[in-house]
Amino acid sequence: MKGRIVINEERCKGCLLCTSVCQKGIIIQSNKLNSKGYKVVTVDEEKKEECIGCGFCAMICPDCVITVYRSKDNRGK
Ligand code: SF4
Ligand code: SF4
Repeated sequence: MKGRIVINEERCKGCLLCTSVCQKGIIIQSNKLNSKGYKVVTVDEEKKEECIGCGFCAMICPDCVITVYRSKDNRGK
């Protein structure tokens, strides 16, 4: 299973819970602040292809920031 995530940066509060549950280390803290002043997370471009679509990041996020897309082929779409 391949996956891909989309992060809604404006909703992120930078709590980093999602980074702690991603077994692939795909989600990392960025240096970017959103309009509310929170330091948001981002996808590690070098690792994004490793996403398995497990959904743990989306499940643990208290603010519904992350959407996970899954596919059975290798395109991750
Ligand atoms: S879906 Fe799973 S593998 Fe993909 S970023 Fe989220 S926690 Fe990591
Ligand atoms: S768990 Fe949600 S709010 Fe917390 S850093 Fe991750 S995306 Fe942002």
